[in-house]
Amino acid sequence: MATASKPPRFGARGRVLELIRSTGPTSRTELAVASGLTQATISNVVKELLHDGLIGEVGQAASTGGKRRTLLRLSPDSRLGVGVLLGAEAITLVVCNLAGEMVSRMKTVGAKGMTPQEAVAAIARSVEFIVEDAADDAGRIVGIGLAVPGPIDRDNGFMTRALKGDLWEAWAGFPLLAELEKATGMSVAIDNDATAAAVGEYWLGAAEEAAAYACVYMSAGIGAGLVLDGTPYRGVSSNAGELGHISVDASGPTCPCGNRGCLELFASPSAIVSKAKLEAAAGNLDMAFTSNIEEDLGRLGMLGMRGDAVAHEILRSAADLLAVGIVSLVNLFDVGLIVLSGPAFVSTGSIYLEQVGQALARAALSRSVHPVKLELSFSTRDSAALGAAVLVLQEELDPRTRRSVSVSAGSGIPSVSWDPGP
Ligand SMILES: [Zn+2]
Repeated sequence: MATASKPPRFGARGRVLELIRSTGPTSRTELAVASGLTQATISNVVKELLHDGLIGEVGQAASTGGKRRTLLRLSPDSRLGVGVLLGAEAITLVVCNLAGEMVSRMKTVGAKGMTPQEAVAAIARSVEFIVEDAADDAGRIVGIGLAVPGPIDRDNGFMTRALKGDLWEAWAGFPLLAELEKATGMSVAIDNDATAAAVGEYWLGAAEEAAAYACVYMSAGIGAGLVLDGTPYRGVSSNAGELGHISVDASGPTCPCGNRGCLELFASPSAIVSKAKLEAAAGNLDMAFTSNIEEDLGRLGMLGMRGDAVAHEILRSAADLLAVGIVSLVNLFDVGLIVLSGPAFVSTGSIYLEQVGQALARAALSRSVHPVKLELSFSTRDSAALGAAVLVLQEELDPRTRRSVSVSAGSGIPSVSWDPGP
């Protein structure tokens, strides 16, 4: 069989690294037992990981009668990944290490009003700045994970969104990945912001114990990142989880996507702000508006929190509609946890938690079998950028995982999935 000559190198490397990472200081013997790999393979892989600086030797385990065993531990700062979240109102950059710790963070103006070429140049300048700030040795940076508002062509590295009048219309088909690689000289991986956020939530701790969960991500649009059986579910073309384009009114207005009565038409930040403007024009809401939807939504959220009945009602009705979508999502995938993340929840989170929580308790089909937990992200603004950095770190460490990065529950940190081969 042809497989007999196939070296297990990358699979073994990924698995050994994950074991060292998840179990803390451990010995070669323990690694062989836990992995099922031979001592000789473990010895070779460990030698390679030590050579690459990904792990280090940290003393010896107490003797149990035989030879003392040298302990190995992950060197978290040996590799760093840059995560970039491309947003209309803000571009967020983070640098994180192998343990998922954020080493540096910065926020710049959003891509709204920029051409894709201008945005790539701006991102490249910011990357240079943050890398200089975070790493004394740029060689530790493995690459850039770029989280973008979907839909995307992940394999070819561009956004495909071509909805008429959409903010991102000019970006459709622009070779984003290739241009950013050219501008920075680094390797770039692209992903949907909601999927990146779902991975980020695992590292942030909200989804630590859930094998199946969804991250409902609201920025300019509404999306969902799905993690099923511990692995991000992307669908055939990395466009799963378009929560904003499920219909909540079959006879409603036609959405630019072609569907009717899409959730996003009624419950996206711009739809909410438009409603607030109408109320303000009618004299029912005392609020000043800017040209920044995110900021306006933040102001509306603050008013609602402080007890303004009109602001609260606008947000409550939008949250009720989002809840309709979320109940459908839960019914379709039987997830045990929903995490709300994205800049739109920064000051509105508590209103959404209440409305969505009530809907899940009232209507989720699985509620009599298991509770469906609902949480607000620990970092609504940064989860997607962090997840993007994690994805590029994992891809770099184990090239065989380029299409199968997983976040195995229970190990304490996301892992690279391992295909032991036939
Ligand atoms: Zn639609």
